[in-house]
Amino acid sequence: MSLLSVIVPCYNEQEAIPFFYEAITKTASEMKERWHDIEFEFLFIDDGSNDDTLNTVKKLREKDSRVRFVSFSRNFGKESAIYAGLKNARGDYAVTMDADMQDPPALLPEMYKAVREESYDSAATRRVTRHGEPVIRSFFARRFYRLINRMSSADIVDGARDYRIMTRRMVDAIVEMQEYNRFTKGIYGWIGFNTKWIAFENVERVAGETKWSFWKLFGYAMEGIIGFSTIPLSMATWFGILMSMVSFLGILFIIIKKIVFGDPTSGWSSMVCIILLVAGIQLFCMGIIGQYLAKTYLETKRRPIYIAKSTSEDDAERENG
Ligand code: UDP
Ligand code: MG
Repeated sequence: MSLLSVIVPCYNEQEAIPFFYEAITKTASEMKERWHDIEFEFLFIDDGSNDDTLNTVKKLREKDSRVRFVSFSRNFGKESAIYAGLKNARGDYAVTMDADMQDPPALLPEMYKAVREESYDSAATRRVTRHGEPVIRSFFARRFYRLINRMSSADIVDGARDYRIMTRRMVDAIVEMQEYNRFTKGIYGWIGFNTKWIAFENVERVAGETKWSFWKLFGYAMEGIIGFSTIPLSMATWFGILMSMVSFLGILFIIIKKIVFGDPTSGWSSMVCIILLVAGIQLFCMGIIGQYLAKTYLETKRRPIYIAKSTSEDDAERENG
């Protein structure tokens, strides 16, 4: 038998879950015809939803014992939900996918084939288009991927989705990365393993709405840069060196002007501008250092990545005795 865990992070997805469940079970039975020994578990991670997500999942579980869930005590974010899913998955293989069907279940057989028959450790998907997404969002997303790939050693693919199938070995490697500031796309790149990339056209979500505002995405991008690159820190140093050199030349210029030509030193306003400029750059560099310090601070607290309020296993135990 070969068990495939389907991990679904859900934050306020009560409308999307029924569509998703129908689609994934259909794909599951198609896959069973092709690979007879495959079994499924559907692991829903309720990321502190404040709608009826948890009850929707519980209802599915009543009909279908393959459905499991972990419910968080509050909203911890998608990265934490994915971690919880991988940690609780029991499968020989695990796949993470969104509840809104933007990760088409129809790709799953091809992805499964890659890890099962083509000896890949992982098969991941990337969008080749961003149709149906706000233009400004696509623009910033593109810039972000260009920037982070220049700055960091982890190689992060533009348009990569979190829709990815992995072998048990890779799942264990990810769960072992206990960092609190999680940037899953960077983690995948960092741990290595060989990955097959499958491209597809963007699909719009079936129901509900996106949980990402512009600022949430901005924060996510910062997380990625700070988590996987220390170049901003050395940038601060280079900035400092450059500024010192420029001001040194300026001082030299003034001295020579005074000694050789006897000009009186003047320019109160230019002085103020320079002081403000230098102070600004200093604050900027201190800000960068502060960002890293803040991340280090959170990391040293060793807080749990998520807190589960209830799981399907708790429920089952209660019922049995
Ligand atoms: N999600 C989550 N926690 C969050 C935000 C999102 O678990 O704090 C889930 C969400 O329910 C969905 C997936 O992550 O299954 C992707 O979210 P969304 O569709 O809003 O993002 P987009 O596709 O617009 O990038
Ligand atoms: Mg979506």
